[in-house]
Amino acid sequence: MEKICQHDGRDQRKFYVAILDLDGFKQVNDLFGHNSGDLLLKALAKRMKRLFGKDNTIARLGGDEFGLILFSPLDKPVIESMLAQALRKITDPVEVLGSLVTVSATIGLSTFPEDADTPGQLMRLADLAMYAAKAAGRNTFAFYDEVLEARQQAIAEGVRLAEQALKESALVLWYQPLVALHGPVLGVEALLRLDRRDGTLLSPETFFSALDHPLLAGKIGRFVLDSAIHQGLLWLEQGIRLRIGINISARHLLDSSFMQDMHAVLERYPDFPRELIELEVTESAPMLDFPSAIMTLQAINALGIHIALDDFGTGNASLTYLQRLPAQTIKIDQSFVRDILVDDKDLAIVTGVTSTAQALGMEIVAEGVETLEHARKLERLGVNLLQGYAIAKPMPAAAIPDWVRCYKPVLLDN
Ligand code: C2E
Ligand code: MG
Ligand code: MG
Repeated sequence: MEKICQHDGRDQRKFYVAILDLDGFKQVNDLFGHNSGDLLLKALAKRMKRLFGKDNTIARLGGDEFGLILFSPLDKPVIESMLAQALRKITDPVEVLGSLVTVSATIGLSTFPEDADTPGQLMRLADLAMYAAKAAGRNTFAFYDEVLEARQQAIAEGVRLAEQALKESALVLWYQPLVALHGPVLGVEALLRLDRRDGTLLSPETFFSALDHPLLAGKIGRFVLDSAIHQGLLWLEQGIRLRIGINISARHLLDSSFMQDMHAVLERYPDFPRELIELEVTESAPMLDFPSAIMTLQAINALGIHIALDDFGTGNASLTYLQRLPAQTIKIDQSFVRDILVDDKDLAIVTGVTSTAQALGMEIVAEGVETLEHARKLERLGVNLLQGYAIAKPMPAAAIPDWVRCYKPVLLDN
């Protein structure tokens, strides 16, 4: 690439640098073994050579990452449609050692000479674009642009905000009720807020980057575990028995200190019933390191603590994957719940997830239930545990006891 970049002068040729990362490859390695992983890589490399044509260069960068230099097509709409088609083709199942295996890919691209004119810089920007595409949900592509640079700055700002909040003890938990249809209040989910001390609170959206930051995830996680369980105990002492849902970042869950943190908090609150603790782990977190996630989740279960798979439907979990995860609850992501009344695809996804959960004997929760109409539809689909604005918005801990005492089941009028 060095050579083509240095090729200065008037006929400087435009090209794209792309980094392609396979999604779910680690899971294949973990489930089917390294042999299958290697065969899959070979088969996909062949497929990609065909897809990207002979005018372009493709090389394996290591692991499940490939680098591409794309000289043609150069026209943006044309290359976009080629990339979209390539992504679709990559997800066609591959047969390895008698099993059909499916992975997807995420691609980040930078443009020479518009974005940068050195190989190192082009790779860095393509990598940045790749991470943005991953954050946008994988199985997609993104070109580097200034918006991305701005996003990087927002990430840095989020980390700064959370770091300061930790120092100034400005993190607080709000709680959102979880109810059974026709039945009682089952529990609450602890949701993090940053108190700006000027009467306003910031939602996690503004400091999302900090939740998975290597230096902050553990600190934030320990604060959340401690204050949520402490609060649960205070309610219990007032005669209000609530299950407490606690969000755990992937970074903290997969950190070697996680179980130590868990034991430490249980020792501080020995009187809080463990079956009232439910750790919410995003569906995609265990995929990052399946063997160690499984071990940690099993150890959590062995303590009598429940596990919920959060944001379910947003990753690309397979049935095999689900079967192997020691989880008791599935929380269907609000993005699917929101449109079940109008979008047949979302309805199909919720129906599918519900029957999967039922088949596996797992509890199913719908989050983001915004209207009673949603609640009724969910009831017909067999989803009986609900969380969302139709029931209650998140509220400060002090408001929970009165809310619980006054609560009337949402669908009593039916
Ligand atoms: P989540 O765990 O999926 O939490 C549910 C989010 O949906 C919450 O947003 C909640 O306020 C919002 N929500 C609930 N019902 C409705 C509804 O009917 N409509 C709409 N539009 N939204 C609804 P929030 O509090 O902003 O939290 C966002 C995400 O931040 C959480 O998603 C979770 O992934 C993360 N998060 C929150 N607290 C913590 C925490 O203590 N630790 C970690 N690691 N992550 C946290
Ligand atoms: Mg959650
Ligand atoms: Mg969720």
